[in-house]
Amino acid sequence: MVKIKPAFGIYVHWPFCARKCPYCDFNSHVQDTINHDQWLKAYLSELRYYANNMPDRVVTSVFFGGGTPSLMKPQVIGEILTEIDRLWNCSEDLEITAEANPSSSETPLFQDFRQAGINRLSVGVQSFNDQALHFLGRLHNAADARQAIETAAKFFDRLSFDLIYALPDQTPANWRSELSEALKLAVDHVSLYQLTIEPGTAFHKDRIAAANEDIGGALFEITQELLDQAGMPAYEISNHARKSQECRHNLVYWRGQDYLGIGPGAHGRLTRDDNTDMIQNVREPGKWLELARSKGLGQQKRTPLTSEERRNEIILMSLRLSEGLSSEHYRRLTNSDLALSLDQSRLQALENEGFITFQDNILKAAPAGRQRLNAVISHLLS
Ligand code: SF4
Repeated sequence: MVKIKPAFGIYVHWPFCARKCPYCDFNSHVQDTINHDQWLKAYLSELRYYANNMPDRVVTSVFFGGGTPSLMKPQVIGEILTEIDRLWNCSEDLEITAEANPSSSETPLFQDFRQAGINRLSVGVQSFNDQALHFLGRLHNAADARQAIETAAKFFDRLSFDLIYALPDQTPANWRSELSEALKLAVDHVSLYQLTIEPGTAFHKDRIAAANEDIGGALFEITQELLDQAGMPAYEISNHARKSQECRHNLVYWRGQDYLGIGPGAHGRLTRDDNTDMIQNVREPGKWLELARSKGLGQQKRTPLTSEERRNEIILMSLRLSEGLSSEHYRRLTNSDLALSLDQSRLQALENEGFITFQDNILKAAPAGRQRLNAVISHLLS
């Protein structure tokens, strides 16, 4: 059984991008001028508020996400990291990740990001195929993507890239060949997402159709096969890594541990005296900036989770992980018994279908269940 260490992550959201991608429903915006000094002061204000609120945590990971945090000035990143180090104790092996895009203007800054303190880079490649990149509305081409990975590998020992698959008309043979080529550039981690068409996106307005379930299933199978062969099995439904190179920050979410969210739309989970609060920041960047500057905090709401909400959230998140959820970890987080928290007839039905296993006190999604995880979880928790 995996021994889960205590962890506490800090997420910093940078909400700006050079262009809005047509499939993207993240809190990302295009804005001509950005006052980096004002944004820095606002981030520092929120950090100081939470450090007063909970000074006794040991920070194990920091994650700059977005949006496109590689558009942040490296010195802004450096000052945020200096402040985190001043406000809290940090673990010796603190993981500091930034998401980056492979555009020709961002790649030359990778060395500066490393010098600012980033020690793990996650590059939004999405595809090494020019046609697919054009369809996805990306600003980079395949040559930029290769260049970005090669440059990043010079400065970062820990390096991930994202790909999107299950594009319209993508065949299993295309995907097998594209993924095999891409894996030649992989270092220790890759994230592989199926294209989904989310409401509010340009693809949704244009009625672009997602891959059907059969094709999606076949592509998922190929993904697992090639990544297993490459020595980077799935540790989460869309994330693959060499041993011990999992993204420790994202594991915090999936293992139901505490984290802080800084910046517009960021959210957090903070536990004190066995009660966990759900924290949600104001989503709109201008409003968050104004609040954080005037009040020191851009929070929209802070609500205690009921014990049922907390238990369900832990089960839902943990089932994404290949390690699953142990009764011991569940008890540590919730003070309750995992077997007694589950509806036995629903669990039994899912076990009989081969979608879930609950053996040796570990609840896990079986391979067939991982392909239809949302349906399995909603049946288990309904
Ligand atoms: S770069 Fe990333 S965050 Fe920005 S619009 Fe594209 S997908 Fe969304």
